[in-house]
Amino acid sequence: MSTIFKRIIDREIPADIIYEDDRCLAFRDVNPQAPTHVLVIPKKEITSIDALAEEDGELVAHLWQVIRKLARELGVAGSGYRVVVNNGPNGGQTVDHLHFHLLGGRPMTWPPG
Ligand code: AMP
Repeated sequence: MSTIFKRIIDREIPADIIYEDDRCLAFRDVNPQAPTHVLVIPKKEITSIDALAEEDGELVAHLWQVIRKLARELGVAGSGYRVVVNNGPNGGQTVDHLHFHLLGGRPMTWPPG
């Protein structure tokens, strides 16, 4: 069964998409935890960090470059931001399609909850 993120990639359900290229998609989180909260996802169906293959290295490097570019475009690069990838049940992952949370626009606390 398709995850909700695969359905967004396939345009079966709407999302506030702010960036797309041949390998990834970025859209605003529907339940934002910060003034800027964007999800960057690969188009390839990878369940989680744990499911990454050696061959995915270039894709992951690309995702980081997209995150860096978006942080600048969204105006949070100067003030700072946080990138979070939840993995598995204890990590708090709720959607089984690899995604990077880009959070900014407010100071973050540590440790995370
Ligand atoms: P995680 O808990 O790390 O798996 O994150 C899943 C994220 O996806 C949460 O922050 C949700 O708010 C977000 N989310 C779930 N459904 C949608 C949707 N249809 N559009 C945008 N964001 C979503």
